[in-house]
Amino acid sequence: MIDVAIVGGGPAGLTAATYLRRFHRSCVMLDADESRARWIPESNNCPGFPGGVSGPELLRLLREQARDFSVPIEPVRVGRVAREDDGFVIDGEGRSWHARTVMIATGLRDRLPGEWAEDALACGALRLCPICDAFEVSDRRIGVYGPADSIGSHAEFLLAFSSSVYALPADGGDGGDGGAEGEAARQAGVRWLAAGDLRFDGRRCSYKVADGEIALDTVYSYLGFDTSVPLDGLDIERTRSGEIVVDRHQQTRVPGLYAIGDIVGGLNQIAVAVGQAAIAATHVHGRLAPVARSDAEPAR
Ligand SMILES: Cc1cc2nc3c(=O)[nH]c(=O)nc-3n(C[C@H](O)[C@H](O)[C@H](O)COP(=O)(O)OP(=O)(O)OC[C@H]3O[C@@H](n4cnc5c(N)ncnc54)[C@H](O)[C@@H]3O)c2cc1C
Repeated sequence: MIDVAIVGGGPAGLTAATYLRRFHRSCVMLDADESRARWIPESNNCPGFPGGVSGPELLRLLREQARDFSVPIEPVRVGRVAREDDGFVIDGEGRSWHARTVMIATGLRDRLPGEWAEDALACGALRLCPICDAFEVSDRRIGVYGPADSIGSHAEFLLAFSSSVYALPADGGDGGDGGAEGEAARQAGVRWLAAGDLRFDGRRCSYKVADGEIALDTVYSYLGFDTSVPLDGLDIERTRSGEIVVDRHQQTRVPGLYAIGDIVGGLNQIAVAVGQAAIAATHVHGRLAPVARSDAEPAR
């Protein structure tokens, strides 16, 4: 019986694993290796990296740190987490693990605007999170793409970074004008285009409408996300968009089942994910039976 099984090895899960091993807890990291952070070309708001850091490099460093404390990282997609006696059973790809507590750190899956999206993310032509990187496109020509009835407030937010913000409705919802939110955005200075097609030429995105095409320095896409949490018969609370609801210790309403990082409703940021990991790991350590060290055990 392992003390903690961590499902998901992005910034949240890896940080929790390091904390837990440093509390001398046994844990296993079960990870399908598709962190959202792998798409970050360069993050400049991640604490401790004055010159910026790419998502893949940050993940490499977090894995290295976890391995320094002997975290076993299993490459596996978990299919099911269920209650079992006084703990949990976790199944994935024909294998099973048994743990006293479980941390869900499975993140989100972004809905992307086209097959070209990963290439466009890599070169910064497409972006998903203005809190992360709008500073980098200050005073550039910025597009905001998504359902007409939900892009108005996002476009207005971006006016703090550039006076050249274009709303690009992905559909004709709300008559294509975004309703009251769209009107408020237009009043604030957002340029609202008709419904059209978002394209990528390998370098930049452009938006094609019936009577022309406009090139954009970058486009923020707001198509939402999907969550998949492999919990079987566990009575957790979820938000309307599928995120897990937790208490101030990151615990769900199922005792011993925690959730951390983007899968928890709130601000989807690396700093938040690692903060939640520290809170959850410390609480788990406190609720499990005290560790009894023997003189012969090595520290790592
Ligand atoms: C383009 C882009 C740019 C960003 N820029 C920044 C930035 O500059 N600053 C910032 O703070 N944040 C940024 N973010 C957000 C940041 O990437 C996320 O907040 C962060 O990755 C969340 O970490 P997490 O550990 O919760 O989830 P993730 O990093 O998404 O990791 C979840 C892990 O769980 C695994 N998993 C999922 N389901 C299963 C399963 N069933 N079994 C096993 N494993 C599973 C996944 O494969 C993945 O490895 C950006 C995001 C994107 C997409």
